[in-house]
Amino acid sequence: MKKNEEYIVECLDLTRLGYGVVKIDDRIVFVSNLLPEEKALVKIIKVNKTYAIGKVIERFTQSKHRIQPKCSIFPSCGGCQLQHMDYEMQLKTKQAQVQAMVDHSALPLIEVKPTLGMKEPWFYRNKAQFPVQVQNDQIFMGFYRSHSNTIVPCQTCAIQDEMINQVYLCIQQHISFKLAKSLRHILIRHAQSTNQIQIVYIGRQFQDFSKLNTILLNEFPSIVSIVYNENTRNDNVILGNTYSVLYGTDSLIDTCMDNQVKLHFKSFFQVNPQQMEVLYQYAIDAAHLHSQMTCIDMYSGTGTIGMAISKYVKQVIGVEIVKEAVENAQENAKMNGITNCQFICQDASDFVKEYASKNKNVDVIFIDPPRKGMSLQGIHDVCTLAPKQVIYISCNPETLIRDSIEFSKLGYQCQSIQPVDMFCQTISLECVAVFQRNNE
Ligand code: SAH
Repeated sequence: MKKNEEYIVECLDLTRLGYGVVKIDDRIVFVSNLLPEEKALVKIIKVNKTYAIGKVIERFTQSKHRIQPKCSIFPSCGGCQLQHMDYEMQLKTKQAQVQAMVDHSALPLIEVKPTLGMKEPWFYRNKAQFPVQVQNDQIFMGFYRSHSNTIVPCQTCAIQDEMINQVYLCIQQHISFKLAKSLRHILIRHAQSTNQIQIVYIGRQFQDFSKLNTILLNEFPSIVSIVYNENTRNDNVILGNTYSVLYGTDSLIDTCMDNQVKLHFKSFFQVNPQQMEVLYQYAIDAAHLHSQMTCIDMYSGTGTIGMAISKYVKQVIGVEIVKEAVENAQENAKMNGITNCQFICQDASDFVKEYASKNKNVDVIFIDPPRKGMSLQGIHDVCTLAPKQVIYISCNPETLIRDSIEFSKLGYQCQSIQPVDMFCQTISLECVAVFQRNNE
Protein backbone atom coordinates (compact mmCIF):
# COMPACT_ATOMS: atom_id res chain seq x y z
CA MET A 1 0.00 0.00 0.00
CA LYS A 2 1.32 3.43 -0.93
CA LYS A 3 0.40 7.00 -0.20
CA ASN A 4 -2.08 8.55 -2.67
CA GLU A 5 -3.49 5.19 -3.78
CA GLU A 6 -7.27 5.05 -3.91
CA TYR A 7 -9.51 2.15 -2.87
CA ILE A 8 -13.21 1.42 -2.73
CA VAL A 9 -13.96 0.28 0.83
CA GLU A 10 -16.70 -0.56 3.30
CA CYS A 11 -16.47 0.70 6.86
CA LEU A 12 -16.44 -2.10 9.47
CA ASP A 13 -16.34 -0.30 12.78
CA LEU A 14 -15.65 2.95 14.60
CA THR A 15 -12.56 3.49 16.79
CA ARG A 16 -12.57 5.08 20.23
CA LEU A 17 -11.28 8.24 18.53
CA GLY A 18 -14.20 8.33 16.11
CA TYR A 19 -12.40 7.08 12.97
CA GLY A 20 -14.02 4.62 10.60
CA VAL A 21 -12.14 1.31 10.39
CA VAL A 22 -11.62 -0.39 7.00
CA LYS A 23 -9.47 -3.34 5.99
CA ILE A 24 -7.45 -3.27 2.76
CA ASP A 25 -5.28 -6.34 2.00
CA ASP A 26 -5.33 -7.25 5.69
CA ARG A 27 -4.07 -3.83 6.68
CA ILE A 28 -6.19 -1.67 8.98
CA VAL A 29 -6.90 1.80 7.62
CA PHE A 30 -8.42 4.54 9.77
CA VAL A 31 -10.62 6.99 7.90
CA SER A 32 -12.13 10.14 9.38
CA ASN A 33 -15.75 11.04 8.74
CA LEU A 34 -16.72 7.50 7.73
CA LEU A 35 -19.40 5.54 9.63
CA PRO A 36 -19.92 1.77 9.90
CA GLU A 37 -21.51 0.15 6.79
CA GLU A 38 -20.77 3.18 4.58
CA LYS A 39 -19.09 2.46 1.22
CA ALA A 40 -16.66 5.05 -0.08
CA LEU A 41 -13.72 5.83 -2.32
CA VAL A 42 -10.82 6.45 0.04
CA LYS A 43 -7.39 7.95 -0.64
CA ILE A 44 -4.44 6.79 1.47
CA ILE A 45 -2.74 9.80 3.03
CA LYS A 46 -0.28 8.09 5.37
CA VAL A 47 1.15 4.57 5.64
CA ASN A 48 2.65 3.30 8.88
CA LYS A 49 4.08 -0.14 9.71
CA THR A 50 0.91 -1.55 11.22
CA TYR A 51 -1.82 0.72 9.92
CA ALA A 52 -2.62 3.46 7.41
CA ILE A 53 -4.71 6.62 7.39
CA GLY A 54 -7.14 7.44 4.62
CA LYS A 55 -9.58 10.15 3.73
CA VAL A 56 -12.92 9.99 1.98
CA ILE A 57 -12.88 11.15 -1.66
CA GLU A 58 -16.43 10.11 -2.43
CA ARG A 59 -19.08 8.45 -0.28
CA PHE A 60 -21.27 5.96 -2.22
CA THR A 61 -23.70 4.98 0.54
CA GLN A 62 -24.77 6.76 3.70
CA SER A 63 -25.30 5.20 7.11
CA LYS A 64 -28.83 5.65 8.38
CA HIS A 65 -27.22 7.18 11.45
CA ARG A 66 -25.42 9.92 9.49
CA ILE A 67 -26.78 13.39 10.14
CA GLN A 68 -25.83 16.89 9.03
CA PRO A 69 -23.29 18.25 11.58
CA LYS A 70 -24.53 21.35 13.41
CA CYS A 71 -21.21 23.18 13.05
CA SER A 72 -19.76 24.34 9.75
CA ILE A 73 -16.23 23.79 11.08
CA PHE A 74 -16.82 20.11 11.97
CA PRO A 75 -14.66 18.00 11.71
CA SER A 76 -11.66 20.32 11.30
CA CYS A 77 -12.19 21.81 14.77
CA GLY A 78 -10.91 19.17 17.19
CA GLY A 79 -13.61 19.83 19.81
CA CYS A 80 -16.31 17.37 18.65
CA GLN A 81 -15.75 14.10 16.80
CA LEU A 82 -19.27 12.66 16.54
CA GLN A 83 -21.46 15.44 15.16
CA HIS A 84 -22.01 13.44 11.97
CA MET A 85 -23.71 10.63 13.95
CA ASP A 86 -27.24 10.75 15.39
CA TYR A 87 -27.39 10.98 19.16
CA GLU A 88 -28.97 7.58 19.74
CA MET A 89 -26.07 6.01 17.84
CA GLN A 90 -23.55 8.04 19.85
CA LEU A 91 -24.97 6.61 23.08
CA LYS A 92 -25.04 3.04 21.73
CA THR A 93 -21.52 3.36 20.37
CA LYS A 94 -20.18 4.52 23.73
CA GLN A 95 -21.81 1.60 25.54
CA ALA A 96 -20.56 -0.89 22.93
CA GLN A 97 -17.02 0.50 23.05
CA VAL A 98 -16.76 0.12 26.83
CA GLN A 99 -18.33 -3.36 26.60
CA ALA A 100 -15.77 -4.36 23.94
CA MET A 101 -12.93 -3.07 26.11
CA VAL A 102 -14.21 -5.13 29.06
CA ASP A 103 -14.70 -8.22 26.88
CA HIS A 104 -11.15 -7.96 25.51
CA SER A 105 -9.63 -7.46 28.95
CA ALA A 106 -8.69 -9.98 31.62
CA LEU A 107 -11.86 -9.08 33.53
CA PRO A 108 -14.70 -11.53 33.99
CA LEU A 109 -18.02 -10.77 32.34
CA ILE A 110 -19.28 -7.34 33.41
CA GLU A 111 -22.48 -5.74 32.28
CA VAL A 112 -21.99 -2.33 30.68
CA LYS A 113 -25.38 -0.62 30.94
CA PRO A 114 -26.97 1.54 28.25
CA THR A 115 -25.44 5.04 28.31
CA LEU A 116 -27.47 7.66 30.19
CA GLY A 117 -27.81 10.51 27.71
CA MET A 118 -29.20 14.05 27.59
CA LYS A 119 -32.53 15.18 26.18
CA GLU A 120 -30.90 18.15 24.45
CA PRO A 121 -27.27 17.17 23.87
CA TRP A 122 -26.12 20.68 22.80
CA PHE A 123 -24.98 23.95 24.44
CA TYR A 124 -24.22 22.17 27.72
CA ARG A 125 -20.63 23.11 28.65
CA ASN A 126 -20.14 25.51 31.55
CA LYS A 127 -16.45 26.15 30.90
CA ALA A 128 -14.46 27.06 27.78
CA GLN A 129 -10.77 27.68 27.21
CA PHE A 130 -10.24 29.49 23.93
CA PRO A 131 -6.68 29.74 22.62
CA VAL A 132 -5.63 33.17 21.31
CA GLN A 133 -2.90 33.78 18.71
CA VAL A 134 -1.79 36.66 16.51
CA GLN A 135 -0.36 35.83 13.11
CA ASN A 136 0.35 38.14 10.17
CA ASP A 137 -1.42 41.00 11.93
CA GLN A 138 -4.55 38.94 12.42
CA ILE A 139 -6.14 37.75 15.65
CA PHE A 140 -7.11 34.07 15.80
CA MET A 141 -9.42 32.71 18.50
CA GLY A 142 -11.23 29.38 18.49
CA PHE A 143 -10.23 25.79 19.10
CA TYR A 144 -7.16 23.76 18.27
CA ARG A 145 -7.35 21.52 15.20
CA SER A 146 -6.97 17.98 16.55
CA HIS A 147 -3.34 16.91 17.19
CA SER A 148 -2.01 20.39 16.42
CA ASN A 149 -1.67 23.86 17.84
CA THR A 150 -3.15 25.57 14.80
CA ILE A 151 -6.30 27.44 15.71
CA VAL A 152 -9.50 26.77 13.79
CA PRO A 153 -11.26 30.12 14.19
CA CYS A 154 -14.82 29.91 15.42
CA GLN A 155 -17.38 32.48 16.39
CA THR A 156 -19.71 30.29 18.34
CA CYS A 157 -19.63 26.72 19.64
CA ALA A 158 -22.58 24.30 19.66
CA ILE A 159 -21.52 22.52 22.86
CA GLN A 160 -20.72 25.62 24.94
CA ASP A 161 -23.65 27.16 26.74
CA GLU A 162 -25.31 30.25 25.22
CA MET A 163 -23.90 32.65 27.80
CA ILE A 164 -20.32 31.51 27.19
CA ASN A 165 -20.89 32.00 23.46
CA GLN A 166 -22.18 35.54 24.05
CA VAL A 167 -19.27 36.53 26.29
CA TYR A 168 -16.83 35.00 23.83
CA LEU A 169 -18.40 36.90 20.92
CA CYS A 170 -18.17 40.16 22.85
CA ILE A 171 -14.47 39.51 23.58
CA GLN A 172 -13.84 38.75 19.89
CA GLN A 173 -15.50 42.02 18.88
CA HIS A 174 -13.63 44.22 21.33
CA ILE A 175 -10.23 42.67 22.06
CA SER A 176 -7.34 44.90 20.94
CA PHE A 177 -4.45 43.66 18.90
CA LYS A 178 -2.05 44.44 21.74
CA LEU A 179 -4.06 42.45 24.29
CA ALA A 180 -4.49 39.48 21.96
CA LYS A 181 -0.73 39.42 21.34
CA SER A 182 -0.03 39.07 25.06
CA LEU A 183 -2.55 36.28 25.65
CA ARG A 184 -2.38 32.49 25.37
CA HIS A 185 -5.93 31.52 26.40
CA ILE A 186 -9.16 33.02 27.64
CA LEU A 187 -11.11 30.91 30.10
CA ILE A 188 -14.83 31.57 30.54
CA ARG A 189 -16.92 29.83 33.18
CA HIS A 190 -20.68 30.18 33.55
CA ALA A 191 -22.61 28.80 36.51
CA GLN A 192 -25.89 27.86 34.85
CA SER A 193 -27.79 27.62 38.15
CA THR A 194 -26.82 31.07 39.49
CA ASN A 195 -25.96 32.74 36.16
CA GLN A 196 -22.61 33.96 37.57
CA ILE A 197 -19.82 34.45 35.01
CA GLN A 198 -16.06 34.30 35.46
CA ILE A 199 -13.39 35.33 32.95
CA VAL A 200 -9.70 34.43 33.26
CA TYR A 201 -7.16 36.00 30.90
CA ILE A 202 -4.14 33.72 30.68
CA GLY A 203 -1.16 35.65 29.35
CA ARG A 204 2.60 35.93 29.04
CA GLN A 205 2.80 39.51 30.24
CA PHE A 206 0.30 41.71 32.03
CA GLN A 207 -1.48 44.39 29.99
CA ASP A 208 -4.12 46.93 30.83
CA PHE A 209 -7.44 45.09 30.48
CA SER A 210 -9.59 47.92 31.87
CA LYS A 211 -11.16 49.01 28.56
CA LEU A 212 -12.23 45.47 27.64
CA ASN A 213 -13.37 44.79 31.20
CA THR A 214 -15.59 47.89 31.21
CA ILE A 215 -17.29 46.75 28.02
CA LEU A 216 -17.78 43.22 29.37
CA LEU A 217 -19.11 44.38 32.73
CA ASN A 218 -21.57 46.72 31.01
CA GLU A 219 -22.76 44.02 28.68
CA PHE A 220 -22.88 41.19 31.27
CA PRO A 221 -23.90 42.40 34.74
CA SER A 222 -23.68 38.85 36.12
CA ILE A 223 -19.88 38.75 35.78
CA VAL A 224 -18.59 38.23 39.33
CA SER A 225 -14.94 37.52 38.67
CA ILE A 226 -12.26 38.67 36.22
CA VAL A 227 -8.77 37.31 36.81
CA TYR A 228 -5.39 37.69 35.11
CA ASN A 229 -3.32 34.50 35.29
CA GLU A 230 0.30 34.62 34.17
CA ASN A 231 1.71 31.64 32.34
CA THR A 232 5.27 31.88 31.01
CA ARG A 233 5.79 28.10 30.78
CA ASN A 234 6.94 26.46 27.57
CA ASP A 235 4.57 23.50 27.66
CA ASN A 236 0.87 23.13 26.93
CA VAL A 237 -0.38 23.39 30.52
CA ILE A 238 -3.03 26.09 30.33
CA LEU A 239 -2.89 27.78 33.75
CA GLY A 240 0.17 29.37 35.35
CA ASN A 241 0.70 29.76 39.11
CA THR A 242 0.48 33.48 39.72
CA TYR A 243 -2.63 35.54 39.28
CA SER A 244 -4.27 38.82 40.19
CA VAL A 245 -7.97 39.57 40.55
CA LEU A 246 -9.01 42.40 38.21
CA TYR A 247 -12.67 42.48 39.22
CA GLY A 248 -14.72 40.81 41.98
CA THR A 249 -13.12 37.67 43.44
CA ASP A 250 -11.19 34.63 42.20
CA SER A 251 -14.26 32.37 42.44
CA LEU A 252 -17.88 32.02 41.45
CA ILE A 253 -20.81 30.20 43.03
CA ASP A 254 -22.55 27.30 41.29
CA THR A 255 -24.76 24.56 42.70
CA CYS A 256 -24.62 20.77 42.73
CA MET A 257 -27.31 18.44 44.12
CA ASP A 258 -28.96 21.27 46.13
CA ASN A 259 -25.65 22.42 47.61
CA GLN A 260 -24.01 25.73 46.83
CA VAL A 261 -20.50 25.28 45.49
CA LYS A 262 -17.88 28.01 45.55
CA LEU A 263 -15.42 27.42 42.75
CA HIS A 264 -11.94 28.90 42.50
CA PHE A 265 -10.86 29.21 38.86
CA LYS A 266 -8.20 26.56 39.53
CA SER A 267 -10.76 24.12 41.00
CA PHE A 268 -12.18 21.27 38.97
CA PHE A 269 -15.92 21.20 38.32
CA GLN A 270 -17.75 18.85 35.94
CA VAL A 271 -18.30 20.62 32.60
CA ASN A 272 -21.83 19.31 32.05
CA PRO A 273 -23.86 20.37 35.09
CA GLN A 274 -27.03 18.51 34.09
CA GLN A 275 -25.25 15.19 33.56
CA MET A 276 -23.10 15.78 36.64
CA GLU A 277 -26.22 15.32 38.75
CA VAL A 278 -27.26 12.20 36.79
CA LEU A 279 -23.77 10.80 37.40
CA TYR A 280 -23.68 11.57 41.13
CA GLN A 281 -27.25 10.37 41.70
CA TYR A 282 -26.37 7.06 40.06
CA ALA A 283 -23.25 6.77 42.25
CA ILE A 284 -25.25 7.56 45.41
CA ASP A 285 -28.00 5.04 44.58
CA ALA A 286 -25.44 2.35 43.77
CA ALA A 287 -23.76 2.78 47.17
CA HIS A 288 -26.90 1.95 49.25
CA LEU A 289 -25.84 4.48 51.88
CA HIS A 290 -27.21 4.55 55.42
CA SER A 291 -26.90 6.70 58.48
CA GLN A 292 -24.25 4.65 60.29
CA MET A 293 -21.73 4.72 57.46
CA THR A 294 -18.33 6.37 57.19
CA CYS A 295 -17.33 7.22 53.60
CA ILE A 296 -14.16 8.50 51.97
CA ASP A 297 -14.39 10.79 48.92
CA MET A 298 -11.01 10.39 47.18
CA TYR A 299 -10.10 13.18 44.70
CA SER A 300 -12.82 15.33 46.22
CA GLY A 301 -12.27 18.60 44.31
CA THR A 302 -14.57 21.27 45.75
CA GLY A 303 -16.44 18.67 47.82
CA THR A 304 -19.36 18.08 45.44
CA ILE A 305 -19.62 14.31 45.98
CA GLY A 306 -18.75 14.44 49.69
CA MET A 307 -21.43 17.05 50.37
CA ALA A 308 -24.01 15.21 48.25
CA ILE A 309 -23.56 11.97 50.23
CA SER A 310 -23.23 13.67 53.63
CA LYS A 311 -26.97 13.76 54.28
CA TYR A 312 -27.26 9.96 54.00
CA VAL A 313 -24.30 8.92 56.17
CA LYS A 314 -22.64 9.51 59.52
CA GLN A 315 -19.34 10.90 58.35
CA VAL A 316 -17.45 11.82 55.16
CA ILE A 317 -13.74 12.46 54.70
CA GLY A 318 -12.75 14.10 51.43
CA VAL A 319 -9.17 14.20 50.18
CA GLU A 320 -7.85 16.39 47.37
CA ILE A 321 -4.44 17.69 46.32
CA VAL A 322 -5.23 21.19 44.97
CA LYS A 323 -5.10 23.62 47.90
CA GLU A 324 -7.62 26.06 46.41
CA ALA A 325 -10.14 23.25 45.83
CA VAL A 326 -9.79 22.00 49.43
CA GLU A 327 -10.31 25.56 50.73
CA ASN A 328 -13.43 25.76 48.53
CA ALA A 329 -14.66 22.40 49.86
CA GLN A 330 -14.22 23.45 53.50
CA GLU A 331 -15.98 26.74 52.88
CA ASN A 332 -18.71 25.01 50.86
CA ALA A 333 -19.53 22.57 53.66
CA LYS A 334 -19.83 25.53 56.04
CA MET A 335 -21.94 27.55 53.60
CA ASN A 336 -24.36 24.62 53.26
CA GLY A 337 -24.54 23.96 57.01
CA ILE A 338 -22.90 20.54 56.64
CA THR A 339 -21.08 19.47 59.78
CA ASN A 340 -20.23 15.79 59.14
CA CYS A 341 -17.73 16.37 56.28
CA GLN A 342 -14.05 17.13 56.59
CA PHE A 343 -11.73 17.87 53.68
CA ILE A 344 -8.02 17.18 53.74
CA CYS A 345 -5.33 18.52 51.40
CA GLN A 346 -3.12 15.52 50.62
CA ASP A 347 -2.30 13.03 47.90
CA ALA A 348 -5.36 10.76 47.94
CA SER A 349 -3.32 7.52 48.00
CA ASP A 350 -1.01 8.77 50.77
CA PHE A 351 -4.06 9.64 52.84
CA VAL A 352 -5.61 6.19 52.38
CA LYS A 353 -2.30 4.55 53.29
CA GLU A 354 -2.08 6.54 56.53
CA TYR A 355 -5.74 5.90 57.30
CA ALA A 356 -5.23 2.16 56.79
CA SER A 357 -2.22 2.18 59.13
CA LYS A 358 -4.43 3.59 61.92
CA ASN A 359 -6.80 0.61 61.64
CA LYS A 360 -9.78 2.85 61.03
CA ASN A 361 -13.03 1.68 59.50
CA VAL A 362 -14.66 2.83 56.32
CA ASP A 363 -17.82 1.48 54.67
CA VAL A 364 -17.78 2.96 51.15
CA ILE A 365 -15.00 4.69 49.23
CA PHE A 366 -15.89 6.98 46.32
CA ILE A 367 -13.02 7.42 43.89
CA ASP A 368 -13.06 10.08 41.15
CA PRO A 369 -9.48 10.34 39.88
CA PRO A 370 -8.03 12.34 36.96
CA ARG A 371 -7.59 10.65 33.57
CA LYS A 372 -4.47 8.74 34.57
CA GLY A 373 -6.47 6.74 37.13
CA MET A 374 -4.97 5.35 40.33
CA SER A 375 -1.54 4.06 41.30
CA LEU A 376 -1.10 0.36 42.10
CA GLN A 377 -0.16 1.32 45.63
CA GLY A 378 -3.32 3.45 45.92
CA ILE A 379 -5.55 0.54 44.85
CA HIS A 380 -3.73 -1.73 47.26
CA ASP A 381 -4.23 0.72 50.14
CA VAL A 382 -7.93 1.16 49.33
CA CYS A 383 -8.36 -2.62 49.49
CA THR A 384 -6.39 -2.83 52.75
CA LEU A 385 -9.05 -0.58 54.27
CA ALA A 386 -11.58 -3.27 53.31
CA PRO A 387 -14.63 -1.09 52.50
CA LYS A 388 -17.74 -3.09 51.57
CA GLN A 389 -18.04 -1.14 48.35
CA VAL A 390 -15.96 1.03 46.09
CA ILE A 391 -17.70 3.42 43.72
CA TYR A 392 -15.24 4.42 41.01
CA ILE A 393 -16.13 7.38 38.77
CA SER A 394 -13.88 7.59 35.75
CA CYS A 395 -13.44 9.86 32.75
CA ASN A 396 -11.09 7.37 31.08
CA PRO A 397 -12.32 3.80 30.41
CA GLU A 398 -8.79 2.59 29.59
CA THR A 399 -7.49 3.38 33.09
CA LEU A 400 -10.79 2.30 34.66
CA ILE A 401 -10.41 -1.18 33.16
CA ARG A 402 -6.72 -1.35 34.07
CA ASP A 403 -7.57 -0.42 37.67
CA SER A 404 -10.57 -2.80 37.76
CA ILE A 405 -8.21 -5.68 37.00
CA GLU A 406 -6.09 -4.72 40.02
CA PHE A 407 -9.16 -4.40 42.23
CA SER A 408 -10.34 -7.85 41.17
CA LYS A 409 -6.93 -9.37 42.04
CA LEU A 410 -7.33 -7.89 45.52
CA GLY A 411 -10.81 -9.26 46.15
CA TYR A 412 -13.05 -6.54 44.73
CA GLN A 413 -15.23 -7.54 41.80
CA CYS A 414 -16.68 -4.98 39.44
CA GLN A 415 -20.46 -5.56 39.41
CA SER A 416 -21.46 -3.21 36.62
CA ILE A 417 -20.33 -0.23 34.60
CA GLN A 418 -22.71 2.63 33.87
CA PRO A 419 -21.62 5.08 31.14
CA VAL A 420 -23.03 8.60 31.53
CA ASP A 421 -22.84 10.91 28.54
CA MET A 422 -21.07 13.92 29.99
CA PHE A 423 -19.41 15.00 26.76
CA CYS A 424 -22.13 14.76 24.09
CA GLN A 425 -20.92 15.04 20.45
CA THR A 426 -17.39 14.11 21.53
CA ILE A 427 -15.60 10.81 21.99
CA SER A 428 -15.01 11.37 25.72
CA LEU A 429 -16.62 8.93 28.07
CA GLU A 430 -17.59 9.05 31.74
CA CYS A 431 -18.44 5.86 33.66
CA VAL A 432 -19.41 4.75 37.14
CA ALA A 433 -18.10 1.32 38.14
CA VAL A 434 -19.44 -0.41 41.24
CA PHE A 435 -17.11 -2.78 43.13
CA GLN A 436 -18.17 -5.14 45.86
CA ARG A 437 -15.86 -6.88 48.32
CA ASN A 438 -15.91 -10.63 47.71
CA ASN A 439 -18.38 -12.53 49.94
CA GLU A 440 -20.41 -9.41 50.68
N1 SAH B 1 -14.82 14.70 42.71
C1 SAH B 1 -14.61 16.04 42.21
C2 SAH B 1 -13.31 16.21 41.43
C3 SAH B 1 -12.96 15.15 40.43
S1 SAH B 1 -11.67 15.55 39.29
C4 SAH B 1 -15.78 16.47 41.34
O1 SAH B 1 -16.52 15.63 40.84
O2 SAH B 1 -15.95 17.68 41.15
C5 SAH B 1 -10.25 14.87 39.98
C6 SAH B 1 -9.70 15.67 41.15
O3 SAH B 1 -8.53 14.99 41.60
C7 SAH B 1 -9.25 17.08 40.82
O4 SAH B 1 -9.87 17.98 41.70
C8 SAH B 1 -7.74 17.05 41.04
O5 SAH B 1 -7.24 18.27 41.54
C9 SAH B 1 -7.59 15.95 42.05
N2 SAH B 1 -6.30 15.26 42.12
C10 SAH B 1 -5.42 15.01 41.13
N3 SAH B 1 -4.40 14.27 41.57
C11 SAH B 1 -4.64 14.03 42.89
C12 SAH B 1 -3.93 13.30 43.90
N4 SAH B 1 -2.79 12.69 43.63
N5 SAH B 1 -4.47 13.24 45.13
C13 SAH B 1 -5.65 13.87 45.42
N6 SAH B 1 -6.34 14.58 44.49
C14 SAH B 1 -5.85 14.66 43.25
